Amino acid sequence: MLATLIYRSRLNRTLDPSQLAGLVERASLRNAQLHVTGILLFDGDHFLQVLEGPQASVNAVYERIGKDPRHGNVVELLRDFAPRRRFVDRGMVLFDLRVMKPHVVLRAILRFGTLKYKLASNDRVYKFIRTFIASPSTNGGVVRNTSPEQWRFAIKTSPFASDAPLFHEQPCQFAFQPIIEPLRGNISSLEALIRGPNGGSPQEYFSTIAPNKLHEADLASKGWALAMARRLGIGNHKVAINLLPMSLVKIPGAVDILLNHITRNQLNPGQIIVEVTEDEVISGYEEFTWAIRQLRAAGIGLAIDDFGSGFAGLSLLAKFQPDKLKIDRTIVTDIHLHGPKQAIVKAIIDCCAELQITVVAEGVEKVEEWCWLEAVGIQRFQGFLFARPVLNGVSAINWPQRILHKI
Ligand code: C2E
Ligand code: MN
Ligand code: MN
Repeated sequence: MLATLIYRSRLNRTLDPSQLAGLVERASLRNAQLHVTGILLFDGDHFLQVLEGPQASVNAVYERIGKDPRHGNVVELLRDFAPRRRFVDRGMVLFDLRVMKPHVVLRAILRFGTLKYKLASNDRVYKFIRTFIASPSTNGGVVRNTSPEQWRFAIKTSPFASDAPLFHEQPCQFAFQPIIEPLRGNISSLEALIRGPNGGSPQEYFSTIAPNKLHEADLASKGWALAMARRLGIGNHKVAINLLPMSLVKIPGAVDILLNHITRNQLNPGQIIVEVTEDEVISGYEEFTWAIRQLRAAGIGLAIDDFGSGFAGLSLLAKFQPDKLKIDRTIVTDIHLHGPKQAIVKAIIDCCAELQITVVAEGVEKVEEWCWLEAVGIQRFQGFLFARPVLNGVSAINWPQRILHKI
């Protein structure tokens, strides 16, 4: 199958642009052996390249580009398949926008097609090219991200216990993971993640519970989560707890039971955030609406967890607006390399800004991911980069600090 890949990248300062033509020629020969063809546009700062060829070859060429020190900020914009090549076998053609006029380039590109298969001006690949030429440095919303080299990380102990003792006959345990605002040096909340009596995963714990007791156990476990949070020295900090929405629907008086757990541990409802996942909410939305109202009326916060991993998408926000929305790890992973993920996150941010919903990025593992997300305006983060969950405790936190260069 014929694959199409478009990416944009930035020229690293190590390359003298006058050498570009020679480089492209050599790359073109190499690509031709792999039956990869296409075009390359350069505006003096950014590249936009279209690669066409057998899927494995296109992937091989792209992988090489990702490792090439001459390309920085490599971001994938489109991966697709096509019935034929748009840029009929002519190797890799360079369009240097520093010396060519935009309309000349566009006309030349449209002329690539054969009489039988003309490249149409509403072709999606052509539209990417046109956008790049119209505003190269903002194409696809290039984000001037702070570069990872500007940061170093410093481990600081957290104000919470790192290993709190269990209660007598506690049926489950909790690992706690902080959600932080790195640039403010602020811990916004601790998320309580359920673990089995021997520290096993949530799935392992829930698999030991009879299916008809699942919701009851889920709700009851929150009493232990809050008791442990208190033992950790939660103070005025917030605690996020995960709940199956049906636990609030199926258990009579569920919200009152939860409120009871809260007050028994000398916490107040405003300190608690209930996290529910996108899919669970949608599958039982009508029933859940009532529970949401009760939670809100009691002053408990509500967060949508794993947003973007399920089927609801932004339409969920037409039904109700949570206080918080946590962007799923599958979208966060390698966000700095992936145009479609970047477009999704920007849409989420715009939507949430208008609705006053706080956005949290979860599963942040790489400094590059964090830098990109900070640059588009996200302020709250959860992930191994900053702190891993710790059983019955809170780990030290890895805080980023800007490296100050002496002038
Ligand atoms: P979640 O609420 O989305 O919790 C975050 C999960 O991501 C946790 O997995 C955490 O350990 C993991 N995580 C955090 N940062 C990173 C990272 O940087 N990289 C990677 N790879 N993973 C990261 P965990 O503890 O296994 O929990 C899995 C899920 O189980 C939770 O996802 C939540 O949906 C559910 N869960 C946890 N506790 C409870 C509970 O008390 N009740 C219910 N109903 N579900 C729970
Ligand atoms: Mn969660
Ligand atoms: Mn999650």
